[in-house]
Amino acid sequence: MSPSNTHEKLDPLSLFRETIELLPEAAVIFDAEDRYLFWNAKYEEFYAESAHSPLVGQLFEDYLRQLLELKQVPAAVGRETDWLAERMARHRQPFSRYEHQIAGSRWIRVEERRLASGGTIGTRVDITELKQREFQLAYLAHHDAMTGLANRVLLQERLEGAIARSSPDAPAAVVGLDLDRFKHVNDHLGHHAGDELLRQVAVRLRGAVRSSDTVARVGGDEFVILIPDLPDPRFADDALGRIQDRVSEPYLVFGNPVAIGASAGLALIPQDGQSCDALLRHCDNAMYSAKVNGRGAQASRE
Ligand code: GH3
Ligand code: MG
Repeated sequence: MSPSNTHEKLDPLSLFRETIELLPEAAVIFDAEDRYLFWNAKYEEFYAESAHSPLVGQLFEDYLRQLLELKQVPAAVGRETDWLAERMARHRQPFSRYEHQIAGSRWIRVEERRLASGGTIGTRVDITELKQREFQLAYLAHHDAMTGLANRVLLQERLEGAIARSSPDAPAAVVGLDLDRFKHVNDHLGHHAGDELLRQVAVRLRGAVRSSDTVARVGGDEFVILIPDLPDPRFADDALGRIQDRVSEPYLVFGNPVAIGASAGLALIPQDGQSCDALLRHCDNAMYSAKVNGRGAQASRE
C-alpha cells in the first residue's frame, strides 16, 4: 500500500475524535455561538453522576442552567443568576483558568481558550485530591492539633475582622483565660492526663459560646475567646462569668476527679484597643492581675 493510499483512507473527523478520546483530560469544543460541538468520554464522566450529558448543538449556557436547576453546583446555590453570568463572562475571555466545585464534593480545574475561528476549546481536570490536601494544610495551619480549636494565626485573622467591623455602638469582646495551677495536673496525673484535661476544657469552652464565636488555644494552658458581636457591652461580663464558671466545674480525667480554676481577663473592641497586639496585651494584663489577686478571682477590664 502506498503512503498516498493510506492517507486517503484517513478520515480527518474520525481521526480527530480518536485523538480527543486519547487525551488524558476531559475535553470539550464549542462552536462560535457557544454550542456543544465535540467532547470526549472523560468530559461526560464528570457529569455522569449528577446530570445527563449535553446534546450536540445545545447552548453551553442552557446546559449550565440545567446543572443549576438540578442543584449540581454547590458554590452557586442561592446566587444562581450571578454565578451563571460570571461563568459565561469567563467562558468568553480569550483564555480562562479557574477551579470550581461540582456535585459529589468534587473539584475541577477548568481551562478554556477562544479559537481564532470563534469557537472555544476547553479542558477539565479532576483536582479533588489536590483540593482536599490543600484544605487539610489550611486547616492544620489555622488550628491547634491537640484540641482542634483555632490557633493564634486564625485568632489573629478573626480579630482583624472584628476590629474592622466593631464600633463603640457595636463592640466585640476578647476573653483571655489561663488555667490555674495546671502544672499540678501534669505533676500528679502525668502529661497525658494534662493533655486530656486541655481537650475537655476546649469542649467546655466551645459549649459556653455561640458557634460564630472563635475559641483559640494560644499557649500551653492559655485560651482566647473572641465574641465578635455583642448585643450590649454589659453582655461581655456575663459571658466572661459564664465561661469561667463552665471551665471551673469538676472534671473526670481518666477516672480521676480533677478540680481546676481559671483566671480570665476581658478587653472590649474598640474601647480597649484597636490592634491585635493591644487587645491581647490588655487581656493579658487583666488576666495576670486576676492571678495576682488570687487565682480564679473575678477578672476585671483594668
Ligand atoms: P498558673 O496558675 O500561674 O497559671 O500556673 P500553671 O501551673 O497553670 O502554669 P502556667 O500557666 O504558668 O504554664 C502552663 C503549663 O502547662 C506549662 C507546662 O508545664 C504545661 N503545658 C504546656 N503545654 C502543655 C501541653 O500541651 N500539654 C500538657 N499536658 N501540659 C502543657
Ligand atoms: Mg496556667
